Amino acid sequence: MKILTFDVEEWFHVLDHESTKGEKQWQNFDYRLDANIDSVLEILDRYNQKATFFCLGWLSKNHAHIVKRLDAMGYEIATHSNLHQLVYEQNINDFKNDLETSIKSLEDITGKKIRAYRAPGFSIKEENRWVFEILISQGIEIDCSIFPAKRAHGGFATFGSDQPVLINTNIGTIKEFPMSLDEVLRTKIIYAGGGYFRFFPYSVIHHFMGKSNYSMSYFHPHDFDAGRPILGDLSPLKKFKASVGLKGALCKLENLIRDFDFIDLDEAVKKVNWDSVSMIDLPERRKKQRIENQLIFQNNYKQTVKQINKGSTIYGS
Ligand SMILES: [Zn+2]
Repeated sequence: MKILTFDVEEWFHVLDHESTKGEKQWQNFDYRLDANIDSVLEILDRYNQKATFFCLGWLSKNHAHIVKRLDAMGYEIATHSNLHQLVYEQNINDFKNDLETSIKSLEDITGKKIRAYRAPGFSIKEENRWVFEILISQGIEIDCSIFPAKRAHGGFATFGSDQPVLINTNIGTIKEFPMSLDEVLRTKIIYAGGGYFRFFPYSVIHHFMGKSNYSMSYFHPHDFDAGRPILGDLSPLKKFKASVGLKGALCKLENLIRDFDFIDLDEAVKKVNWDSVSMIDLPERRKKQRIENQLIFQNNYKQTVKQINKGSTIYGS
């Protein structure tokens, strides 16, 4: 199963970087999304190829026509958050508000229910497992945020699966489509999107894609923009990652679509037999932990009082 998805954001939605950290800073940059989306849609249209588009809720402010256009063309719309912030830098309330805003903004444009979510930068870590309960409580049925290995932005190395699974929480289950990884020089990499996709020659990408029985892609419209500006204040490594292989990327995308059968997320959900996939238990531990800590404290307190009454210390003699 090979799933074709795009994260719809502008070229300046760079994570973990001072000059691109929020809406105020984004006002300093020119929009390039219209032209970038045009080149992607031209290829999809040529091959009559379906895809899922994870859109920022932020698009509703200046790019609502793009979401409208994607929806009108029959593409599935999902959410990529509202303001493209790292999940592990948000508290529960901030995350919930951002998610709610993104869902409402996108649903207002399309008039359709938003069912799927992908975190910016795959930034859900093991300690942010509370995210899944918030997603479920907001009506999200499918998550595509898990990077089941270590990475710069988060990564969930102990997740335990790189195949579709169900995640079990205290309030229900959610369908998870993790990123599919391969290994180069003992480093786990994602080959179907972003820097590595642009860096490797097509023959290598074709090899990775061909040998895997499950591939989840995550392309960005700016991955195919040979003329995109590169921010001057990026570190040399980030500059390299942002600029490598931009020129040939669109051609690689076309080759992939020509050479492999891709489906969108909606189709993938129907194809998976959810009764037979693994169930990963990720109950939100914080509430439980708090209650357990309280019980331990109460028990210790009772024991101490009892022993003081008896005339001994808690340590006994
Ligand atoms: Zn993103």
